[in-house]
Amino acid sequence: MNKSHIQIADIEVAARCVVFDKDGTLIDFHAVWGPRLVRGATELSVAAGLGDAFLAHLYRTAGYDAQNSKTSGQGPLATAPLHQFIVIIATVLFQHGIIWDKALELSNQYMGAAMTATPATQEIAPRGAVAESLERLVEAGILAVIATTDNRHATNIMLNALEVELFFTDIRCGDDEGPVKPDVSVLTEIAHSLRLKVGDLIMVGDTVSDLAMARKAGVALSVGITGGAGSAEELAPHADVLIEDIGEIRPAGPR
Ligand SMILES: [Mg+2]
Repeated sequence: MNKSHIQIADIEVAARCVVFDKDGTLIDFHAVWGPRLVRGATELSVAAGLGDAFLAHLYRTAGYDAQNSKTSGQGPLATAPLHQFIVIIATVLFQHGIIWDKALELSNQYMGAAMTATPATQEIAPRGAVAESLERLVEAGILAVIATTDNRHATNIMLNALEVELFFTDIRCGDDEGPVKPDVSVLTEIAHSLRLKVGDLIMVGDTVSDLAMARKAGVALSVGITGGAGSAEELAPHADVLIEDIGEIRPAGPR
């Protein structure tokens, strides 16, 4: 199969498929995960009978600055799949005197519920003209794939709300069987299943985790998207190019 030429900002590259992260790349990261963490943490503190010291410890551990409502692009809240996050939060409960079995149960019950709640409409804000951008790529014969650490239920609801599900050839979620980001096998498996090489892929993400994985796997181009969980300064050393939204990824050539 011939490679298509894809234009990313002022760079042109030959590739066949664009792999997109979801949160912070296709949808606004900050509208979803900070408020969910705060909701889960608050309910958890009440259920466990723990106060502000616990909450402060929990936010620090999750990689969340509650004062400024800012998520660290390199912390667990931004990057860890749910099953890891539950254990991380249970560990904070244990450090505040809750026995381990109970800590896991509470973390599952309250943080798990907050993190997996059916996404509400106001939580699903597309980052720019997502549907138009995807349609333009797919119509030019470029494949689009999602690799997210979020679970499939929430992913389906969000993609459905944005009306973009039909553009994706493959959607890989954090609760699927098999490897999860930042395991490079996620990218090698995507390439293999499409009968492509990893060098035929472009990876787009808003965290160092995504971009470091992309570089390690050997993709054609590692594209950082600013305005998500990771700052431009954090992303720059791991990205071949930084963009503001996926509208800057287009089929190359006369238009
Ligand atoms: Mg992301």
